[in-house]
Amino acid sequence: MLRVVILGAAAGGGVPQWNCGCPVCRTARSENPELRSTQASIAVSCDGEHWFLINASPDLRQQLTATPQLHPKQGQLRHSPITGVILTNSEIDAVAGLLSMREGSPFTVYAHPRVLAILKSNSIFNVLGEKSVKRQPIEVDQAFEPTLPDGSPSGIKILPFEVPGKAAWYLEGQAHPAGADGAGDTLGLRIEDKQSGKYLYFLAACARVTDDLKSRLAGAPLVFFDGTVWRDDELITAGLGSKTGQSMGHIAMSGDHGAIESLGRLDIGQKVFLHINNSNPALLNGSDERKTLEHAGWKILADGTEITL
Ligand SMILES: [Zn+2]
Repeated sequence: MLRVVILGAAAGGGVPQWNCGCPVCRTARSENPELRSTQASIAVSCDGEHWFLINASPDLRQQLTATPQLHPKQGQLRHSPITGVILTNSEIDAVAGLLSMREGSPFTVYAHPRVLAILKSNSIFNVLGEKSVKRQPIEVDQAFEPTLPDGSPSGIKILPFEVPGKAAWYLEGQAHPAGADGAGDTLGLRIEDKQSGKYLYFLAACARVTDDLKSRLAGAPLVFFDGTVWRDDELITAGLGSKTGQSMGHIAMSGDHGAIESLGRLDIGQKVFLHINNSNPALLNGSDERKTLEHAGWKILADGTEITL
């Protein structure tokens, strides 16, 4: 049995974002607190006892407090069910939560060498001492099985694969610590419970849907997919910023080449948008955009929702 908890469904900044007065953020602060959402991350487990985080968001501390599945075992002075953290990119909303896990409990960080190079080049991450926090490189198209604290296999098979994206925005115009070339800045993950064969896909960032990606996702029981923006230019037209979704490495939900259309005929069991920016009108229940999305079989789920496969 594969268990998944949505720790956070929002993009960078969360909902509401601290400095934002857009319609979604305003209503999330007042009439519609149910719209509040923390920055994107999920937790997966196949035994219910040991959990792996997919990305560590800046809201991790709040997410762990709100998630009983991830609380320390009763009767233990120091314990965490979190056995590992798998990073799919090095954006702040994927890695900053690691700094909230610096109290000496052992776990392993699994990430592509390009992401590990960024952690290594930022000395603040040295608070995660090598003795308790191992850093394990993972490679594109090479499945791995994260281990339990005693070194035994977890029963979860993870296949990282390259998806169209870009390096972290804070590196724009600067040299990448791992060099200019090479894939691995943005990964998708196929996560499988080895015993049952049930699996899901996780893509919190994806700039476009390629034929290769379509063939991977076809028939999948569950897909978490990049839902950052409804329209590519929505930040600009709303007066919230100067960047398009594409320039940030994110596909739009709508449009001929958007996520809803591109993944429309792939016979996917459950389609869940994740990493949704507060500018996205589909966050508003009852909006035309939300109706369109739901009519196409997609869901936006609240933080804390658990799905079992
Ligand atoms: Zn906003």
